Amino acid sequence: MSDVHPNSPVFVENKNRFYQPTPVAAPAYRCATQPCNISAIRVGSHYSISRYAAGSTVRYYFDLDTFEKSKEGKRALRHFKRAISAWNRVPVKFTRVYNQRDAFFLVVASNYNRGVYAEAFFPNDAAEPRVVTVYPRVFRDRKAMFNVFCHELGHVLGLRHEYAGERERQHPSVRLGNPNPQSVMNKFANLFDMMVQEEDIEEAIDFYSRDTIEGNPVEVVETDT
Ligand SMILES: [Zn+2]
Repeated sequence: MSDVHPNSPVFVENKNRFYQPTPVAAPAYRCATQPCNISAIRVGSHYSISRYAAGSTVRYYFDLDTFEKSKEGKRALRHFKRAISAWNRVPVKFTRVYNQRDAFFLVVASNYNRGVYAEAFFPNDAAEPRVVTVYPRVFRDRKAMFNVFCHELGHVLGLRHEYAGERERQHPSVRLGNPNPQSVMNKFANLFDMMVQEEDIEEAIDFYSRDTIEGNPVEVVETDT
């Protein structure tokens, strides 16, 4: 996985308790959301675990103009909405807005990074990086666009990679729930296997009900700003 996020999440006083080995599937999916992290879910970035308030509305602006072909943009939007539906039991409502200024985050296409599929952000990222970026590689595997967006929305909800405790140790995370190699937040040789699992949903719901995890406070991010 290539890491392009300049800011490294880091979290905790006692690092060791966050490191638990996790089975890792074949590393084919390349996502650039860096210290990206919850079936067993992993959470935590920028020295803190963050999520939105349960019941929040998170507004996004889908910038169709950034896609080279309008057909591609429309297809991406359709799959993005399907991916939102896959997470819809988590108590966060994603709503599309039509004015960029009203948005909490943007969805854009970019040619900047050809090595990865997509990149997202974490709830406690500063406003400027709050973007879900789609890179050209997605259009080479466009049937898996839905799977890619399911994974990236996991980051937007505050989830790190399933293997964060093993391969992203420089950005400490904490595990919530049991290890789950089938998690949508893992890597898969076949992108079509990257699906939101029942366990992902249940543990994300659990995450959205907690104020602390293993004694660490959960930062609740306002989405009205
Ligand atoms: Zn990722």
